[in-house]
Amino acid sequence: MGSLRLNLQHLSSYDQDTGFFNYEALLAAINAEIIKAGPRPLGATLIEIRIRGLARVGEAYGRKAIGSVIRQLAERLELAPIKNRIIGRIDHKSFGVFLYDVGDPVLALQTAKQLAALCSRPVPWGDQQLRIEAIAGVALTTATDQDAATLLHHAGLALRASSESGSPGYSFFDPAEAQAAKRRNDLIAIITRAVEQNQFEMFYQPFFSFKSGKLVGFEALMRLRHPEFGNIAPSEFIPIAEEIGLISRLGAWCIEDTCRTAAEWPSHLIVAVNFSPAQFYTGTLLAEVNHALEQTKFPAYRLDVEITEGTFLKDQELVLSQLNALRDMGCSIALDDFGTGYSSLSYLWQFPFSKLKIDRSFIHALDTTPKAPSILKSIIELSRNLGIEVTAEGIETNEQMLALRNLNCDYLQGYFCGKPTAKSNLAAIIMKNFSETLEQNNVQLSKIKLIR
Ligand code: C2E
Ligand code: MG
Ligand code: MG
Repeated sequence: MGSLRLNLQHLSSYDQDTGFFNYEALLAAINAEIIKAGPRPLGATLIEIRIRGLARVGEAYGRKAIGSVIRQLAERLELAPIKNRIIGRIDHKSFGVFLYDVGDPVLALQTAKQLAALCSRPVPWGDQQLRIEAIAGVALTTATDQDAATLLHHAGLALRASSESGSPGYSFFDPAEAQAAKRRNDLIAIITRAVEQNQFEMFYQPFFSFKSGKLVGFEALMRLRHPEFGNIAPSEFIPIAEEIGLISRLGAWCIEDTCRTAAEWPSHLIVAVNFSPAQFYTGTLLAEVNHALEQTKFPAYRLDVEITEGTFLKDQELVLSQLNALRDMGCSIALDDFGTGYSSLSYLWQFPFSKLKIDRSFIHALDTTPKAPSILKSIIELSRNLGIEVTAEGIETNEQMLALRNLNCDYLQGYFCGKPTAKSNLAAIIMKNFSETLEQNNVQLSKIKLIR
């Protein structure tokens, strides 16, 4: 009876494939070492080693091959010449190696590198050599963080950096990473609630014609304000909304709300709406645009659809067919942030753009590099030859405005002529522009009278 209980205990603490501690037992063993150290903080390291490529091995040779790979890697770790360590299996593709007397980051990183290299060597399977790859995440105990669960969490976060392209395959836990992960988690909750409760708001930034100086329309820019987090930037919430699958709902709300607002403007003004790449892959985009235009009775010819080059990365055919459909409906298609992405010139003639928006980094380059005017000139001439109109984004100073005007740019947008603002302020902007235009006309008229 006694030996049966012992066996059961043994089974519940050890991983059956490798004989290492399982996750729970590893946590307990690390905590035991921390307690053993007493009031003196333990300078220790946890290395998480994750094996990549197991799914591929499984697909090619079956589950048995995966089991064999894991056992052989466990053997390598067991035999590695590293003293004072506790090894455990964290999950089906990760091992944890706890070095309870290594508090030195250089030594910790060296060991992680050594173990990752050891586990990345091909693994024999019959007469084959199976290729797998191991990456390592490293976390050191700090005076305040002295518990196994925190260490494991931190090592897991470090793994994320190790898996990025360009990384050597091992990296340290960075406290900023943990903060970013926490903020991301908070934002997911905030964004989900905001979508359900319609807490987003559209702001509008005016843009003008260089030639006439007149207001041409507004770009709609989404805003999210949170009582605790303050203003959350679209560059932060849009990618999260994409990731958690809410972009379609958010996009559909944005287009309808914007068209409803713009339908109240004088009929010569247009509105530009930003579409995120993910919206082109939901299958509902065209229906949403159609629905919004119908519901609000806003004419398609007054709607600019702004997209970035990132939209083409996945499936160009799928994007092209939707852009053509939008153009056939009467919308204009604008290529936003030109110059920051892949800037493949082929996009310019393969897709039905009628506008191109030069990214504000190019406008700001006017202040810092003498090459900027030539680059801007080339972009504008190229666009002109292709029959594409050009907007300069992010104009902040009179000098920048004058430089772009001299280069024959079509439209200007930026803080210099108006910041994004709430819907309630638009009537004043429209009226001001209208009266200024009237004044200019009167001056022209009186000049004509004088000449006569
Ligand atoms: P974008 O479409 O290129 O919009 C222009 C961004 O530049 C806006 O930032 C605007 O506030 C900012 N901006 C305008 N003039 C100036 C200037 O003179 N100086 C500086 N420093 N900045 C200026 P915002 O509103 O933070 O939006 C950032 C990006 O987020 C947008 O870039 C767009 O890509 C995306 N975004 C915004 N609203 C929406 C939306 O409703 N849907 C989607 N899918 N994306 C959106
Ligand atoms: Mg835009
Ligand atoms: Mg832009």
